[in-house]
Amino acid sequence: MTEFNLNPIKLTQELVKCQSITPKDDGALLVVQDHLSSMGFDCAPLVFSGNGSYEVKNLFATIGSDGPHLAFAGHTDVVPPGNESSWKHPPFSAIIEDDKLYGRGTEDMKSNIACFISATEQFLKKNGKNFGGKISFIITGDEEGEAINGTPQIMEWTKKQNIKIDHCLVGEPTSNAKIGDKVKIGRRGSVNFFLTVKGVQGHTANGHRAQNPVHCLTKLISNILEKPLDEGNEFFYHQLCKFLLLMLVILPIM
Ligand SMILES: [Zn+2]
Repeated sequence: MTEFNLNPIKLTQELVKCQSITPKDDGALLVVQDHLSSMGFDCAPLVFSGNGSYEVKNLFATIGSDGPHLAFAGHTDVVPPGNESSWKHPPFSAIIEDDKLYGRGTEDMKSNIACFISATEQFLKKNGKNFGGKISFIITGDEEGEAINGTPQIMEWTKKQNIKIDHCLVGEPTSNAKIGDKVKIGRRGSVNFFLTVKGVQGHTANGHRAQNPVHCLTKLISNILEKPLDEGNEFFYHQLCKFLLLMLVILPIM
């Protein structure tokens, strides 16, 4: 079995314990930065603000010299844990029970960042710092929120620094049964829209003149859900509509 100096499970626990609910960082990026610095990375903490959004902490870290440039991209922020009493273990406790690690952000995507760091450490141990290329970490503190002062701003910054990246591995949850058992060339897209269905008011005595918008809406929803949005291709299944944001204008029958 591989001997890990930086054990990815312990690293994940360290990250999960940071309550980094967007846009709060709670030290999560510093955990990443400290480990990368100790491995010889040049770390540039990048704080972006403005652009009509809140301030966000980010990190760009790099090691190596000329040659192919591989970047790991990810985020340290997590979505809110919701009702904490619904959790088996507190959402930021990172408790392991029956080989399962419990905690908000374990899958999306603190374990992934932990694996990036641990794998890089193994790689550098084996190949040294002069491995004939460059490895970078593009880590944002805002992917789950507005995501305006996160990765897009880091990419603008890299452009200004004339940093060119040849390949990028994004650590979003993709695996089926075991981490790393599946790699995709992209992710699904998304579309958001509002649907307004107007009914017709009416008195119960003249119910036949009224129209309940919900009746129309149920037909509409089942139609949208049943029909694939596209045919898919050799890399992706066809897309089905999974989420609907609805705005109803209900004019009741009185
Ligand atoms: Zn994610």
